[in-house]
Amino acid sequence: MPGVQTTTAVAERTTPVELSAIGQALAILGDRWVLLILQRAFLLRVRTFAGWRDELGISESVLASRLKELLAHGILTTAAYRNGRTRNEYRLTDRGLDLWSLLVAIHSWERDWTDRPLPPLVHDVCGRDVRAYLACGGCREGMTARDTRTVRGPLATFARVGLPRQHRRTIATRTDFIGYCPDSMEILGDRWSTSVLAAAFLGARRFGDFQTELGIAPSVLTDRLRRFVELGVFQLGGGNYRLTERGLAFFKVFAFLVSWAQRELPAPAGSELTITHHSCGAALTPVLLCSDCGGKLERREVHFIT
Ligand SMILES: [Zn+2]
Ligand SMILES: [Zn+2]
Repeated sequence: MPGVQTTTAVAERTTPVELSAIGQALAILGDRWVLLILQRAFLLRVRTFAGWRDELGISESVLASRLKELLAHGILTTAAYRNGRTRNEYRLTDRGLDLWSLLVAIHSWERDWTDRPLPPLVHDVCGRDVRAYLACGGCREGMTARDTRTVRGPLATFARVGLPRQHRRTIATRTDFIGYCPDSMEILGDRWSTSVLAAAFLGARRFGDFQTELGIAPSVLTDRLRRFVELGVFQLGGGNYRLTERGLAFFKVFAFLVSWAQRELPAPAGSELTITHHSCGAALTPVLLCSDCGGKLERREVHFIT
């Protein structure tokens, strides 16, 4: 495995500019508040500080820090608008808008793998409540993780997510309306969890594989692996943590994360990850297709009924 380092060395040496695009994306998006802020922006068109605060029941200091990060990463921008007097609001940039497919992919996984009632996704072209399924943009064939091969560049230490923010693992959020279900929030909602899952998609199976890949403290890794087994995402056998069907289905989300990251975030040469679609041999450009009419789902042509 390339770039084996000790935990200490990683902590000292890893800075954001050294991270691969995917490592940066995991660091930015592997946070439940960030995901919930983006989700509310997409689904409810929340644009103001007070809007998110009231909608999510989030503390003002946490919200302020997350909005600051989203501004710094060019996912949100501020814009003045007039409503009696001039006020500022937050808007999704093109980079931020591009995350819609990732959020739809999470919704789609939740629909397939949880019992939770979720807002219907309507495809405006066919007018129906539809499912979004993952397909290869090159050949338009539906696909899963099993239909792919992943090759990493020589410097692809993508999963080194640097120094994590301090996260509490359980946060009471008002997510019952349109919120992500607790399972997907646990899988994606903090950067170590997201990174453990990403490492599994890259072939990590044993405790040591994850540790080498992530430079993660053993106690944190033990905790995340145990939760993933409890959540039915990993199956433990013979010292190997293998993705279950439920875990493998998360590839849909992972594919959009990789695609967004490599398109949008600057990264050192040689740190890229190439996912190839077996049957057509093309580098994967993930797209979502409509389960009803088979058309490609576009951001402006879908909406959730909230
Ligand atoms: Zn293909
Ligand atoms: Zn359709």
